[in-house]
This record gives sequence, C-alpha cells and structure tokens, in this order.
Amino acid sequence: MSRERNIPLVHLVGAGPGDPELLTLKAIRAIRQATVLLVDDLVGRGALRYARRSTRVVDVGKRGGCASTPQAFIERLMAAEAMRGERVVRLKGGDPFVFGRGGEEVAHLRALGVEVEVVNGITAGLAAATSIGVPLTHRDHAHGVLFVTGHARGDGRGAAIDWPSIAAAATSGITVVVYMGIATVEALQAGLASGLAGSTPVAIVQNASLPGQRDAMCRLDELAALVANERFGAPAIIVVGDVVRAAVALAKPRGRVKAAQAA
Ligand code: SAH
Repeated sequence: MSRERNIPLVHLVGAGPGDPELLTLKAIRAIRQATVLLVDDLVGRGALRYARRSTRVVDVGKRGGCASTPQAFIERLMAAEAMRGERVVRLKGGDPFVFGRGGEEVAHLRALGVEVEVVNGITAGLAAATSIGVPLTHRDHAHGVLFVTGHARGDGRGAAIDWPSIAAAATSGITVVVYMGIATVEALQAGLASGLAGSTPVAIVQNASLPGQRDAMCRLDELAALVANERFGAPAIIVVGDVVRAAVALAKPRGRVKAAQAA
C-alpha cells in the first residue's frame, strides 16, 4: 500500500465469497491498513476481524430491505475521505471486477482526482462450483466457462439477456455460471431451454463458502420448481452444463440440502 503522501488513493478490494479464509493476503493487508472501510452487503463479516478497532466502518449495503446507499454518494464519500488523507478501502463481495461495478467506480474516482488500486478476490462463481466439487472446465465435458448475469440492468440502457445465445454457447461445450439468477429463474430456465435439453444438469449454490451454504443439483427443466420448493434465495450461483455431472466428492462437505441426482 505504498503511496505518495499527498496523492489521494482508494483501494477497491475483493473480499471473496464470504469465508474469511478465502481472502487474499493483499486484501487482509489493505483491511488492516484502512482507516475508513466501506463494506458492501455481500462481504462476509469475517473479513472485518482484520480491521483496526479505530477504523471507521461504513456499511453501504442493503441488508434488511433498506435501499442501498446511492453509488454516487459512496463515490463522493470515498473521494472526500481519501483527499483528507484517510486510507480508504472499499470492500466488495467476490472480485471487484466481476459484476461488482468496479470498472464504473474506478472511472468515477479517477474523474474526481483519486487514484485507485484494485485487489482481486475469489469470485462467487468459482467458489460456488468448487464447494460442490464441480470443475468448471474438464477435458471431457467443457472447454470454457461463461460468467453471465441473470439480471439485466434496470435503467433501460442494457440489452435484455440473450438466453438463446448463451444456450448456444453451452451446447458447444461451455459451462455457464449465472450470477443474480434467482429472481429471474423462470426466464432463465425457459431461455436456456430454447437451446439446451431439459435433462441438462444444473447446480445451485446459495451462500457459497459460508456456514449457511445450501446447494442442490437437478435437471434444467426442474430448476425453477426446485428454487421455489426448496426456497433458494440470493445470493446464489447457478451452474449449467455437463461438468455438473462430473462433480467429484470432496472432503468436508457442509450444510447441504438433499441433492436430487443430476440426470
Ligand atoms: N463481485 C461479486 C458478484 C457481485 S453480484 C463476485 O465476484 O462474486 C452479486 C451476486 O453474486 C449474487 O446475486 C450471487 O449471484 C453472487 N454471489 C455473491 N456471493 C455469493 C455467495 N457467497 N454464494 C453464492 N452466490 C454469491
């Protein structure tokens, strides 16, 4: 975290999927050195144990049904604190540059005259798959991975999600990992079914890496019903593709709901 004394600097730090043991050494160092820590709602509380007692911790998440802190406000706050010489760390769930708006944040902070360093975190899609023994690539089953969001941006500036194209990629041997797919799981299932067999294996992992992790496997044509019946909720990752069938038994499984056997 070396820096010129008078150049304002903010660290955007990925906190990983929630298990504090999946923090990187760089993340821990940044948290330890922070004097102001802004914490997103998906950041596991375990990460905060590394903060100094004197550090000002600002929750900018939306837990408890309250509206999340507006992005522009967070950015102005970070810039103002950094300009006062505070060591500002923005902790984000997973990796800051995977569905974390990290790119937008860096651009806005730089426009405000603030330098930004980014520290990678383990993204939820990786952690979720590994936690259930699913290798995302496999020479027999998948030669690539596609990370997609199930949630089109609500401001009308983004295109709707093109499920048929995603299904086409999946049929050619690409594993699909869906973030933010729970709320739109019916559209996801119907969209992918336009190109994929109903028997395509699917896995769902809620709260990956956390003590409350729940996961299950099913067929694509059973997914929305499984989500409803087993009351799966956010945050969850959905993995679609033949690699789910290649799941390997790992030591120390935890917190599982009964897993329907993948077809
Ligand atoms: N930057 C984050 C993603 C933020 S988008 C990352 O790299 O992981 C928020 C979505 O991430 C959630 O809706 C969910 O799909 C996923 N997610 C984050 N943490 C998760 C966890 N512990 N278990 C399962 N999914 C998680």
